[in-house]
Amino acid sequence: MIGRDTPGSGDLTGDAEVWAVLAELSTEFFAVVDDDGVIRSVSSSAPAVLGYEIADVGSLDVVALLHPEDLPVVQSAWREAAVGPGTTSVVDCRLRHHNGGWRWFRVDLHNLSGDPRIGAVACHLRDITEQHETETELRNVERWLDALLENADGSTVVFDSAGDVKWISVNGGMPLGLTNEEFIEGVRRDLVHPDDLSEIQDQFLKVAITPASSSRFEARMRHADGEYRWIETTFTNCLDDPAVTGIVANIRDMTERVMADRALRESERQLEHQATHDRLTGLPNRVLLIDHIEAGLDPLGGSASPLAVLFIDLDQFKVVNDSQGHATGDRLLVSVAERLRSTVPDVDMIARFGGDEFVVVSSTHGDEASSVALAQVVLTAFDTPFTLELGEAGDGGGDVYIDASIGVALSTTHVSSPEDLIRNADAAMYKAKGRGRGRWEVFDDALRSRVVARHELQIGLRRALERSEFEVYYQQIVSTASSDVPMVGAEALVRWSHPERGLLSPLEFIGEAEDTGLIVPLGRIVLGLACRDWAVLPIGDAFVSVNLSARQLTDPSLVSDVTEVLDRSGLAGEQLHVEITESALMADLATTTTTLGSLKDLGISIAVDDFGTGYSSFSYLRRLPVDALKIDKTFIDGLVSTDSADGRGPDHALVGGMCQLGHSLGLSVVAEGVEVPEQLNALVELGCDQAQGYLFARPVPAEQLVG
Ligand code: C2E
Ligand code: MG
Ligand code: MG
Repeated sequence: MIGRDTPGSGDLTGDAEVWAVLAELSTEFFAVVDDDGVIRSVSSSAPAVLGYEIADVGSLDVVALLHPEDLPVVQSAWREAAVGPGTTSVVDCRLRHHNGGWRWFRVDLHNLSGDPRIGAVACHLRDITEQHETETELRNVERWLDALLENADGSTVVFDSAGDVKWISVNGGMPLGLTNEEFIEGVRRDLVHPDDLSEIQDQFLKVAITPASSSRFEARMRHADGEYRWIETTFTNCLDDPAVTGIVANIRDMTERVMADRALRESERQLEHQATHDRLTGLPNRVLLIDHIEAGLDPLGGSASPLAVLFIDLDQFKVVNDSQGHATGDRLLVSVAERLRSTVPDVDMIARFGGDEFVVVSSTHGDEASSVALAQVVLTAFDTPFTLELGEAGDGGGDVYIDASIGVALSTTHVSSPEDLIRNADAAMYKAKGRGRGRWEVFDDALRSRVVARHELQIGLRRALERSEFEVYYQQIVSTASSDVPMVGAEALVRWSHPERGLLSPLEFIGEAEDTGLIVPLGRIVLGLACRDWAVLPIGDAFVSVNLSARQLTDPSLVSDVTEVLDRSGLAGEQLHVEITESALMADLATTTTTLGSLKDLGISIAVDDFGTGYSSFSYLRRLPVDALKIDKTFIDGLVSTDSADGRGPDHALVGGMCQLGHSLGLSVVAEGVEVPEQLNALVELGCDQAQGYLFARPVPAEQLVG
């Protein structure tokens, strides 16, 4: 417009009036100020900028307009400008707007004292309120950010794509206890643990070449204290972000968490180990063994090779335990485990199955020949004695010889589960034990039929219990004192009235019932039937003698069961005897002593059954509250002989000794399995009190006992 109004004019400054109009539009103005701070004149835009009437401006002095806080900076700028003609200075300050508010101005001071037209300091004032507000805001944000970062548990570093630090937050080196300078120096040198360096470089590169990608990982970095810390680093690619143009790294010290995680993982691992390993020997336990065999049997598991399982049972370990104490027993087990490990190091697994039982699994001995060879190697290892260290009390050290019996089973023989395979090996081990100790046997078809038969027997027993297929027969026990042999009592002997096989002898099923624990409910039935029969039979004060197994003796409900049966039947406790074998009595001496005491309190008498066949020490007789000894039939068989001149058999003296022993302890003595009158005569002569056997009566049902 100016150009058009003054085309081709050589005077570009134009009309002063025009300029005056235009100057009024400006947000800037000039002021000429005297040395004493009085405003001498202002340019035309000043009233608009400050909101005053032009007439008022002249009466204003600078100090009145100026924000009091800004007075010192303005004075100092003034002094700077006042030095002499031509000097300048600049200052930002607030001036009061006519509306009462403050506005920021950038003031350029020009000393024009040398210019005769002005002769004072001219000020050029520019309203920078908006700019100032933005800057303040920005500064506040920065301060706020710094404060945040300073208190944050991590810091931020921005790298350029070459890996050099571009920017670092106030607390950049804080996670490592370093100053920012030390941190930057460290990045260039040896901040990162040598083992983690390539990891960190890989992560950086990966993020750097993938726009907007990010990656988090942990690496060890050296702290100011010299120790390495676990630092979690998150790289984020912000190369394309114009505000950043770098790789942002957020770093924080995760040492505590990493350590806690590790401790947690370690304790998880330990727990898992405890659950799957035997504490004493450190070998895998039954749980892991089953898992392992299961995986080996799985045709999808990849290993197609058949498995051999060796079931190893120590021979007479109980003797070591009983005679030398459990601590020695434990040390022996640890020694055996070590011996096995060193003897067959290449097998798949050596596990402790239970007590003195170990199981070896091998997929490289899956055929009979090599599995037997493996068993032989294991057996041979037992030829060398086990040298035990002395116990804490200086006991139990020295050489211990122990044998093992081994059962071998292959996964190729009638096996569909890990349990099958172990059961087969176990059955073979039992056969080996039965044939004499220190040998191996292989599970074969004959054994299989036996196992199958046992299994069927077990099922049959359970069914028989449900269907009440058991009966009780009674065999008389007579007094040897009287020649007309009156019955003093009878032994209750269980029979199984099997639906297909007819009446079964206890010898055919008691063993299995004991092994499976079914003897407990079965024994309860026998006791109930015997007491019921005895309460109604017209037999005067004759007693009924019921057999108790070891399992029943340790059954916590035995005493209450017996009490209840007596109450229900109305039989007097004095008419009930119980027979317990020596080995059952000895199984758990502490429990047995209390149980027997409680039974005696009910009036019940206790007899030691099959006396002479079990334990070699008779000292227990003194300690246990027993009333009678029943001399086993095997000794009665040897009591008399037709071959000797005096008619005495090889066991005559022994039976005599047993009678004396019994009497010396105040016990009555009963002979079992008396079949011929010569035996009875000998027993009478030796002072035996009572007798039982086919000579007098066979076991019969209750109704045939009397009458
Ligand atoms: P035991 O307690 O020693 O019982 C004596 C066994 O010898 C009975 O065999 C009896 O029939 C048999 N016997 C008696 N006199 C003679 C004889 O003169 N000659 C011959 N050869 N044998 C004779 P049984 O009834 O077959 O019982 C065998 C074993 O089964 C019993 O031996 C006992 O240990 C056990 N038993 C029987 N009934 C029960 C029961 O209810 N509970 C428990 N736990 N075991 C029982
Ligand atoms: Mg008996
Ligand atoms: Mg007996």
